[in-house]
Amino acid sequence: MTRMSNRIPDEKVELIRRSSDIVEVISDHVQLKKQGRQYTGLCPFHGENTPSFSVSPDKQLYHCFGCGAGGNVFSFLMELEGLSFIESVKQLAERANIELPDFRSNETVSSSDSPQETMRSAHELAAKLYHHVLTLTEQGGQGRDYISERGFSREQIEQFQIGFAPDRWDALTTILSKRGFSLDVMVAASLLGKRDSDGGHYDRFRNRLMFPIWDGQGNVIAFGGRTITDEKPKYLNSSESPVFHKSKTLYGLHLARPLIRKEATAVLFEGYVDVIAAWGAGVKNGVATLGTALTEEQARVIRRNAETVILCYDSDKAGIEAAFRSAGILEPAGCTVKVAQMPEGLDPDDYIRTYGAARFVSDVIGASLTVMAFKMRYLRKGKNLQNEAERMRYIEDVLAEISTLNRAVERDHYLRQLADEFSLSLDALKQEQFQIFRAQRNKLKHSSEQKRTQVRKSFEPKKLLPAYQNAERLLLAHMMRDVEIADRVQGRIGGAFNVDDHQAIAAYLFAYYGEGHLPNPSQFIQGLQDEKLVRIATELAMLSINEECEEQELLDYMRQIENYPKRVEIKQKELEMKHEQDPVEAAKILMKINRMKQELH
Ligand SMILES: [Zn+2]
Repeated sequence: MTRMSNRIPDEKVELIRRSSDIVEVISDHVQLKKQGRQYTGLCPFHGENTPSFSVSPDKQLYHCFGCGAGGNVFSFLMELEGLSFIESVKQLAERANIELPDFRSNETVSSSDSPQETMRSAHELAAKLYHHVLTLTEQGGQGRDYISERGFSREQIEQFQIGFAPDRWDALTTILSKRGFSLDVMVAASLLGKRDSDGGHYDRFRNRLMFPIWDGQGNVIAFGGRTITDEKPKYLNSSESPVFHKSKTLYGLHLARPLIRKEATAVLFEGYVDVIAAWGAGVKNGVATLGTALTEEQARVIRRNAETVILCYDSDKAGIEAAFRSAGILEPAGCTVKVAQMPEGLDPDDYIRTYGAARFVSDVIGASLTVMAFKMRYLRKGKNLQNEAERMRYIEDVLAEISTLNRAVERDHYLRQLADEFSLSLDALKQEQFQIFRAQRNKLKHSSEQKRTQVRKSFEPKKLLPAYQNAERLLLAHMMRDVEIADRVQGRIGGAFNVDDHQAIAAYLFAYYGEGHLPNPSQFIQGLQDEKLVRIATELAMLSINEECEEQELLDYMRQIENYPKRVEIKQKELEMKHEQDPVEAAKILMKINRMKQELH
């Protein structure tokens, strides 16, 4: 193994930064709308329903007014995907088609790799091995038989990189070991197991059809393995690892994302096999959770990409309940939710194999209902509505559901529907619904109050800043945009900013201009290293200030900054004077105070 440099030359980094438009890169993850000179969208770093995340194409920076996240195109990927700086540079280099010549390829390891990077490389290698075994080797024969029985096409196998883990204990172990991967790290990555008896390593997946699971960028980070025999469990998934977090991952997202964004609609399935089957049927905006209930984090990822979500779950009792639960998470996240219709007892994959692609598209996806309509249909099940008692129970159940709807027009719509269907008085229904609503509200009051205080805590508005701090912030904002102003500040107050972070930013800025750079906030923050400084500098660069800085304004800021330590000292002396018993001493202090006050300007 050759050792490669772990440093990318600065000019290369700069070239990659300049070639990567921040609006385009962020648009891969966040739906942005143009608003004046900025773009705004829902912040990917905290949950919100109204956009406070803003991206400036001029400055090539992003900043969230809600949670304070901010930085340039590299920081965005580092923060969003948990990448190292080098990983973010590599990703953008690839995107911009810029070669990093003396950089090692993906699938060998070097001692300088982070464990996460090593794990991703190993998964990539494993996915290639399994795919090769399935498509090209004798050992993959059983897998191929199973695949053709299931009716997966060549395109599906390629698109989803389906593979086969041979029925051996050491197929992957041998390859990983030959390539220099630490086998213990591979155990932590959930690719291998380790025997207690002799500490030897073995393949975790054997004799299974293998489905790679990717992160949002298309890196393989885990596998789902389906048995082709009667072995239990039927599906064996990778365990949680430093690169694989089930609660954050949506299967198929990087493949479906372009279409999801284009149509502003995502179809959410319960399993990856459903995603693959639906893709084969022409529904190519599908994603799936990975054997766990939908989480708020996943709902946020979906909301960033889509406005409408169609839930396409199994039509058994568990599937229906899961659909209600998911709707309860997606709606508060700001999604419009619909529920696809499927005959009792089928899952999407069964349905497509039984009825074909065209009917899946028109009768299942195309006939999706609103959540309320779906609930009404569900509540009806097994009830004989000719029977008066059962009918009344049904109506009460529906009224209870209507009471949970937030919008008056929606409530009105379903109340009318109910009144029409059972020839009831609309007013009477409204009254009854309101009573139910009141009872529900009293019951919920306590728990929702608790929730609200929690929310408030995390979104505390910025405190009003003292004048000298504001002056420092505005002055730095001007200095970042204008070399001449920076020069004048350096000449007069040097680094005498009162807030430590401001002092540090000023020092970096003087050094940056000293190297002959022109004002460029995105390039400037590249050199800051410290995450807190990056955030603060970004926020300052994004402040909306007068581009023209009047002479007087500039002088005012500098005076505020210079006077602050003197004012602090005067306050101290005044306190001293108050406590001084000896009148002569007190008079001396007063004279000193007066002198100091004269020095203020
Ligand atoms: Zn935020």
